[in-house]
Amino acid sequence: MHSDIVTRTAPSPTGYLHLGHAYSAGLAYLRAKAAGGRFLLRIEDIDGTRCRPEFTEAIFEDFAWLGLHWDEPVRHQSQHLAEYKRALDDLASRGLLYPCFCSRKQIQAEIAAAGHAPHGFDGVIYPGTCRRLSNAERAERIARGEPYALRLNIAAACRQVGRWPLSWHDESEGQQSVTPDLLIQGFGDVVLARKETPASYHLCVCHDDALQGVTLVSRGRDLFPATHLHRLLQALFGWPVPAYAHHPLLTDASGERLAKRKNAPALRDLRAEGATPASVWQQAGLEPADFT
Ligand code: GLU
Repeated sequence: MHSDIVTRTAPSPTGYLHLGHAYSAGLAYLRAKAAGGRFLLRIEDIDGTRCRPEFTEAIFEDFAWLGLHWDEPVRHQSQHLAEYKRALDDLASRGLLYPCFCSRKQIQAEIAAAGHAPHGFDGVIYPGTCRRLSNAERAERIARGEPYALRLNIAAACRQVGRWPLSWHDESEGQQSVTPDLLIQGFGDVVLARKETPASYHLCVCHDDALQGVTLVSRGRDLFPATHLHRLLQALFGWPVPAYAHHPLLTDASGERLAKRKNAPALRDLRAEGATPASVWQQAGLEPADFT
């Protein structure tokens, strides 16, 4: 049986994979397998300060050991920075991006001075300091060599999207409705390119899911709110909207979510201690026989 279902798993090589990654990849793999579709592995390695080649190698090794089969070629985001730059240039040419020179410290000081700190899904909302700079000041600071990030002017972006609300569908939570208010209050002017990396997770993930024809994004519940923003990017670029399945996050015995370098033993450590692929799938709550 062949179908057009395309799923993917998209780990970032910032540490060794743990049970939560196996679970997430396993779910996406099984969805493709059950439908006779394709399962992609994408390496989200744009953050040169945190990603390391040995972690990328370990992803291949661990997933192969678990018995996952993915379609080739694997996309490594770090090899496609020019494509993300083109997408950013497109937004810039539509007047939707502005350079932000603020450091974290400056943003905190600004918020403290304002006396209130509206919080969005991802922490405090950027107060918009650099949005108010004049073109002349921007040009001068860039010419001086000041490093800057690129932020999306979210209100302007919302104005460019003709029809509201936008919607997307999550398998367990149902139809979701996205409004300008939700985006402005939930995200504010998000960073789409960092000072040290000419791209960002939000931009690259949407770009690549569209480019690679992903039809079902199966990923952790922690990314549920981010999907509202992803839906805006899809609308701005005219990208197709995949279906979503946000799965619960695996937790440890005390109920805390598993996290790299914290409470989650790496898959390779489990393996060294004698775990088998079957025992790992079982521990993740998936049926080992489905992977053979
Ligand atoms: N690279 C992201 C992560 O490791 C996952 C992105 C996604 O599945 O959308 O958390």
